[in-house]
Amino acid sequence: MKAFDIQKIRADFPILQREVNGKPLVYFDNGATTQKPRQVIDAISHYYSQMNSNVHRGVHYLSQISTDAFEVTRRKLQDFIHAKHEHEVIITKGTTESINIVATCFGRTFIGEGDEIIISAMEHHSNIVPWQMLCDEKGCVLKVIPMNERGELDQEAYKSLFSSKTKLVAFTYVSNALGTINPVKEMIDVAHSQAVSVPVLVDAAQAVQHIALDVQALDVDFLVFSGHKMYGPTGVGVLYGKEDLLNAMPPYQGGGDMIKEVTFAKTTYNELPFKFEAGTPNIEAGICLNEAIDYINEIGLDQIKAYEDELLAYATAALAEVEGVRFIGTAAEKSSVISFVVDGTHPYDIGVLLDKMGIAVRTGHHCAQPIMEFYGIPGTVRASLAMYNTKEEVDALVVGLKRAIGMLL
Ligand code: PLP
Repeated sequence: MKAFDIQKIRADFPILQREVNGKPLVYFDNGATTQKPRQVIDAISHYYSQMNSNVHRGVHYLSQISTDAFEVTRRKLQDFIHAKHEHEVIITKGTTESINIVATCFGRTFIGEGDEIIISAMEHHSNIVPWQMLCDEKGCVLKVIPMNERGELDQEAYKSLFSSKTKLVAFTYVSNALGTINPVKEMIDVAHSQAVSVPVLVDAAQAVQHIALDVQALDVDFLVFSGHKMYGPTGVGVLYGKEDLLNAMPPYQGGGDMIKEVTFAKTTYNELPFKFEAGTPNIEAGICLNEAIDYINEIGLDQIKAYEDELLAYATAALAEVEGVRFIGTAAEKSSVISFVVDGTHPYDIGVLLDKMGIAVRTGHHCAQPIMEFYGIPGTVRASLAMYNTKEEVDALVVGLKRAIGMLL
């Protein structure tokens, strides 16, 4: 493992050297998507200039090397999340598609009228809407784990939501809008200790780039995340599922690659993981995600988390000094997301003014409208930090925020 050298890390990300609106870019929208290191960018160029070919079908050289590289990523992902089997790693378009696969294939097969699905009050829309669509179709019921003012899930209420009709639990590891880190292992154990063990889906979209994941230690049934939030390319993500569950589910889409044999009378489906990977995947993204995983592994998630935790504490203390700032999401266990509102101002106006100073933050509901409704606000300003951010950038945010507030009030 390399020492944590912030200047070297920053130098690896070409976009961090650019200016926006005549000011050095300060990028604090990492929860939406992270920037890409040179290693990933070069791999994409190398793929198209030296390897481009379809995977899993050609006998020719280029197809073989592309297929091999694509499968290297799968093995890398298996190691990264410590899955028992390589074929438990389904390569998808991203978190949203992965959740939709489970809602469609597991949901339509194993969840029926009157059955219950438990989600939490702090889900991203992509972990709400697919379940609502299933409920509309099947007549099943969505139950929601409530949270307190700090943005922590009420664990006693969670336990009381289970009944003999509960068929699935789905919740986020880290809230994209609040930064809360949920007690995932404990919550999985609660679901598994019911009279009939209830499977659990964990949305790790905001965890995978900050916290080391071990699906076997967690004993999670499904785990989903996106490549673009972990310094990798857009258009690729993961659905991890336990082998027996994935085997019991029908395919998601029909097409090439997911079949064993097709006649007009009958089609037999391919084995895992290909059963869930119909059609040509995003080959370049799949292959180049490999570089992002290597990049993270070389620095190590333990070092990344320690650095980000320090930065989070620094940023929280610095922003707390700004008059009028009110934090939304103050859980005891937090990842590097800081959401806040400023009394008397609209988050959008703050975001626009910060942008003029080269500072990129996210404003709005962050695809988590129920959270905003809970707090009775239209949205927040969100600064989400990554391993390449610095205390100097936090200082720039504080100065910029004070200026913006001065202009607005
Ligand atoms: N879940 C969480 C917690 C997220 O933060 C996001 C994206 O912001 C998603 C799901 C959806 O991810 P994607 O748009 O990559 O599918």
